[in-house]
Amino acid sequence: MSPPLHEIGEARSFAGGVSVRVVRAGWFRPDAGGFFGVVPKPLWSRFTETDERGRLLCRLNLLLIEAGGKRILVETGTGVRMNDKDRDIKGVEGGDPTEALRAVGEDPASIDFVVVTHLHYDHAGGMVDTDGRPLFPNARYVVQRDDAEAAHGDELRVQGIMEVEQLDAVRAAGQLAEVNGEVELVSGVRVLRTGGHTRGSQAVLIGLDRPGGRSGDPTDRGIFWGDLIPTRWQIPVRWTSAYDDYPIDAIEVRNELVARAASEGWWCYFTHDPGAVPIRIEATERGGYRAAE
Ligand SMILES: [Zn+2]
Repeated sequence: MSPPLHEIGEARSFAGGVSVRVVRAGWFRPDAGGFFGVVPKPLWSRFTETDERGRLLCRLNLLLIEAGGKRILVETGTGVRMNDKDRDIKGVEGGDPTEALRAVGEDPASIDFVVVTHLHYDHAGGMVDTDGRPLFPNARYVVQRDDAEAAHGDELRVQGIMEVEQLDAVRAAGQLAEVNGEVELVSGVRVLRTGGHTRGSQAVLIGLDRPGGRSGDPTDRGIFWGDLIPTRWQIPVRWTSAYDDYPIDAIEVRNELVARAASEGWWCYFTHDPGAVPIRIEATERGGYRAAE
């Protein structure tokens, strides 16, 4: 009955010869109250339901991007370092990014860049193995400087939440590429610091050549939102989660990017969506946004 733990989606082509596939690296079950934050249950329960422990069934979606002769993995899942108690509380099944890649015939050693959208456990948990060795031996790990600094900062809210040990292990291995703001990794693939969810959260822009660029077919662009918009359920731009460290910033940047995604027809990849991705976003008659049919 249940779908396989690991799957790879069909390749989709974007402007600039960029090819993108979704790699499903397993499942986890975040607490629904935390995930939907201030949104009342009567509203969000129209879209999804919880298990007997009040949790939502969510995917750990990674992206495998090929562009300019390089291979880019976006996100590392929950990884191999979580203890059994945490795996049980968070309902993790799978989560090892290297196992997921091998299961679909891809070699972790072939990855040139690993983009970590932010340093929470379900995105940065699979940066290194239990001995602290990078799971992607030939990759540069792309992390926003603001997130690396927040992980080492003294704000109580994020202490113990960010994967600081894994970050330091990647840095010690000489594989950390700290970036700041909007940076092109290869032609047609950029990371964009969005903030909002964490101080240095980043999204991945696909097929966009430059900020505000309009080259090629406007329909062959895409975005991987990270946890700025973790599933299609959070397309309403005010639907921030309790895990967003900077909700006012999150709403502003979501509003700006969702408007562009809807008007320019961007294909949207959601990191935790249990359904088929990518999808598009459309404006509603009432000035909001929703998943396009
Ligand atoms: Zn997440």
